[in-house]
Amino acid sequence: MLVIGLTGGIGSGKSTVAELFRKRKIPIIDTDILARELVRPGQPALNEIIQTFGDTVIHKNGELDRQTLARLTFQNESARKKLEAILHPKIRQLMTEQINSVSAPYVIAVIPLLIEAGQTDLVNHILLVDCPEEIQIHRVKQRDNRDEQQIREILNAQASRQTKIAMADDIIENQGELSDLDAKIEKLHQKYLLMSQDET
Ligand code: ADP
Repeated sequence: MLVIGLTGGIGSGKSTVAELFRKRKIPIIDTDILARELVRPGQPALNEIIQTFGDTVIHKNGELDRQTLARLTFQNESARKKLEAILHPKIRQLMTEQINSVSAPYVIAVIPLLIEAGQTDLVNHILLVDCPEEIQIHRVKQRDNRDEQQIREILNAQASRQTKIAMADDIIENQGELSDLDAKIEKLHQKYLLMSQDET
């Protein structure tokens, strides 16, 4: 199966782009959703996280306290590596299961930190959604309840646009109107349909 890895910085437009592929009946595997399922109460990954980071990362109701975990791992490389060692093999496994369970010419795997986390071997082709940082900040401010400082910190922790552009096989410039985006996705969709014929 041809696996297209869709990536891009926060607010670049990954979810928006994924929806446009979904509209074309292409299955979407969202690694953020997989990661969230993995840390539900009772799941082995959550128990490993508690053993590694302590009870402070758990709410009283037994659910993961994402904010505390994010605080502990954000900009702390060794802590982040420990968390990745717990989650990544399981995400990989779930992804493989999902890929094997769908029948489609190709799938889109949304992997926000594809490049940063060195997960490029999970995919056959890297599709980057790119736009200027100021637009990312503006969108995230409107979408989430985060202040500009927080958004800039997240952006600074992500790979630079240049690094991502250098790694990408295809780039969607998403700084224009949403209607422009649809036409760009249609073009890529046709390209991936053709590519998928060489995969089987
Ligand atoms: P990501 O998944 O990369 O964080 P989203 O797809 O959620 O980004 O997009 C961030 C926000 O910007 C969303 O509210 C989305 O509706 C909006 N958005 C995305 N692309 C465009 C665009 N081309 N024009 C206007 N708004 C956009």
